[in-house]
Amino acid sequence: MTYAIEGWFTVEEDGARLLGTRCAGCGTVCFPPRHGSCPNPRCEGTDTETVRLPRRGRVWSYTNACYPPPAPFVAAEPYEPVTLAAVELDEVGIVVLGQVSGLTVEQLAVGMELELTSGPLADGPLVWMWGRAS
Ligand SMILES: [Zn+2]
Repeated sequence: MTYAIEGWFTVEEDGARLLGTRCAGCGTVCFPPRHGSCPNPRCEGTDTETVRLPRRGRVWSYTNACYPPPAPFVAAEPYEPVTLAAVELDEVGIVVLGQVSGLTVEQLAVGMELELTSGPLADGPLVWMWGRAS
């Protein structure tokens, strides 16, 4: 199994998890993971640890992509519109964009709870996706 982006998420027995970093100095959590410096402008911390982020969140915004994105994205043939959602993660409040699996844009609403899952891109690598909360 090949991840579309190494080190940004993992698929474990209990499901997909995004990987972020937490600053040892001030506790700021960051996604995508950022090693060696803290994103908080008031903190000069350089000690960050990898953390598994909450699997659930609420839809902050959403749309669909009715035309295939440009290369290097490999679109399925024939192209099927992709649903995208920006989801605010529980607890940490970070907004993470992802494809939506199993839901159309008509079925989404701002504030709706979604859960992280994963699925393959058209050319094979696994990527995180948002799915219906179980
Ligand atoms: Zn910090």
